[in-house]
Amino acid sequence: MREKKLKTLKEFDFKDKNVFMRVDFNVPLQGQVIQDPYRIEKSFASIEFILKQGGRLLLASHLGRPKGRDLSLSLRTVAQYLSEKKNLEVLFIEEPDSLLPKKLLKGLKSPQVILLENLRFHRGEENLDKNLAKKLANYTDIYINEAFSISHRNHTSLSLLPELVKEKGVGFQFEKEIQMLSPLVNQDLEKPLCVILGGSKLKDKIPLMEALINQADIFLIGGLMAYTFLKAKNCFVGKTLVETSSLNLAKNFIDRLELRNKDYFLPVDFKGQWKDQIKNWNLENFPETATAYDIGSKSIQMFQNQIRKAKSIFWNGPMGFFENEIYSLGTSSLAQFVANHKTAYRIVGGGHSALAVRQYEGEIDHISTGGGASLSYLQEKEFIGLKKLYTLQN
Ligand code: ADP
Ligand code: MG
Repeated sequence: MREKKLKTLKEFDFKDKNVFMRVDFNVPLQGQVIQDPYRIEKSFASIEFILKQGGRLLLASHLGRPKGRDLSLSLRTVAQYLSEKKNLEVLFIEEPDSLLPKKLLKGLKSPQVILLENLRFHRGEENLDKNLAKKLANYTDIYINEAFSISHRNHTSLSLLPELVKEKGVGFQFEKEIQMLSPLVNQDLEKPLCVILGGSKLKDKIPLMEALINQADIFLIGGLMAYTFLKAKNCFVGKTLVETSSLNLAKNFIDRLELRNKDYFLPVDFKGQWKDQIKNWNLENFPETATAYDIGSKSIQMFQNQIRKAKSIFWNGPMGFFENEIYSLGTSSLAQFVANHKTAYRIVGGGHSALAVRQYEGEIDHISTGGGASLSYLQEKEFIGLKKLYTLQN
């Protein structure tokens, strides 16, 4: 039988080949200034490797959600970053389906790279346009996907193009995401597994919770979603925002946790605003007009006592409104504690969560920037952009 295989960068011969690398340069911008170049920096190991191996490299990405050509979302800003900060000589091409890429690729020499303009300026990117895919394939010898986080989207550069290219595989970051998330996906983690959940929208997190309910032993629930759970348990949460439409989902989830004898913990004290002042209070005497923005010190202690027992940890979602320093303690104390709990295998996932633990990069086993793609991977063990990357082998 022919086996499917995911080829990694080191298995290719890039010398004098045209390499189309789909990257995720979807960076936060303020005007023309990149607020956080993390994603560009993360793809740089793959860029450097391909150039060193003599590949002729073309980079392609989307940025934001433009409706047609919208210059405030031009990748020229990224081109400038790559030339100023990374010493690349960037040739910028506006039209991905023109004859120009093929022509320029011919004579391309490191440190030259081609960067295509925002793929979403072209209608064909999100519309699965076979013509566009053919044109991109026409100048591609090797297709590399280094955009794990967006690869659950069924878009031309992610799913149609790799179908048309024989030699294809994944970049270093993509490879790492798959490798580090697979124990969780394949339910092959050491127990007990402690799942820490927080963040804003409960409804968005339910699929993730469903995917983990069987293998997790302990659930710690903080963040804004905790208040919907508390309310579902008939606790009083003052003026704190509750997702009324998800109360039944929350009740149902709690019932199932209880039925399966899972340990789960909700916050018992809080920090927030009451009468224009910043205060701390306990669950039993939640003031009527108070809004909670963070978990309190007893909750932090209680959560840490559970984390201590864990052999594996998966964390998604901050414990509070951590962007405001006043309400960052719940999240930052857990981040530090998880980073120091070295006897457990620790994965942190989610855009905001990744940001909250970034200072512990290197200490935590894996910080996933996968977002939606990690979710699809966890739930289905597959996603469209991954399926299209396999090479069949005898
Ligand atoms: P992730 O991106 O890691 O998946 P989410 O996007 O679900 O996380 O949630 C992060 C957001 O939730 C942050 O902006 C954070 O400020 C907000 N948040 C978490 N807890 C609270 C709270 N108690 N009150 C207000 N906002 C909160
Ligand atoms: Mg988020």
